[in-house]
Amino acid sequence: MAKSPFSARVASAARTTASANRDGDHHANGSSRKDGDGNHVLNEILLALSRAESEAVLPKLEFMRLKLHHVLHEAGETLKSAYFCNSGMFSVLNVMPDGKSVEVGLPKLERALNRFAQFMGVQVTQVAACNRLHEVNERLARWLLMTQDRVGSEHLPLTQEFLAQMLGTRRSSVTVSAGTLQKAGLISYTRGHVAILDRHNLEEAACDCYGLLQKQVKEWESQDA
Ligand SMILES: [Zn+2]
Repeated sequence: MAKSPFSARVASAARTTASANRDGDHHANGSSRKDGDGNHVLNEILLALSRAESEAVLPKLEFMRLKLHHVLHEAGETLKSAYFCNSGMFSVLNVMPDGKSVEVGLPKLERALNRFAQFMGVQVTQVAACNRLHEVNERLARWLLMTQDRVGSEHLPLTQEFLAQMLGTRRSSVTVSAGTLQKAGLISYTRGHVAILDRHNLEEAACDCYGLLQKQVKEWESQDA
């Protein structure tokens, strides 16, 4: 792929109460940086860049506020921008096996992006096996935990249709599973909104896939430290 002028976007997606707070309330830990529009950067890949790299990249970032279910990229389209999730969560519905790489000429950023791609690969494989082998209740619990980790809030704006797509199952199965988790007092579920009430027991209700993915992330983090 030819090197194109670096274009990147910081996006804020699927905003929730907690991520809105994170947008407005910045911890004075010295790691807070700003993009070209003066918005605070919270994305961990961007925060981990060296000074030279962040000086090269951050001024070029454009802050975007995204609506729920906004599609960033359709399979098969040419990639024109890189998106860095600042708060909220992006989902990948399908990953093409050709695994194209993008060279950006910034070693630390490239390393972080490779690490991210590696994690996505592991996650896609694990989730594909999970969707085939594990019960919908366990998968729903696993998916809600992963979403809470990414979004940083126990309030998740999720419709049944979206959950069904994520879990590769029918809406009616999602209804039954959400009902089971709700009856057990682990979540509350209303139209388009899930609240996690009892995270500890939700972890117990999830399949082992959640713990396995968590362990992999921790191992990589310790290697990078
Ligand atoms: Zn599983």
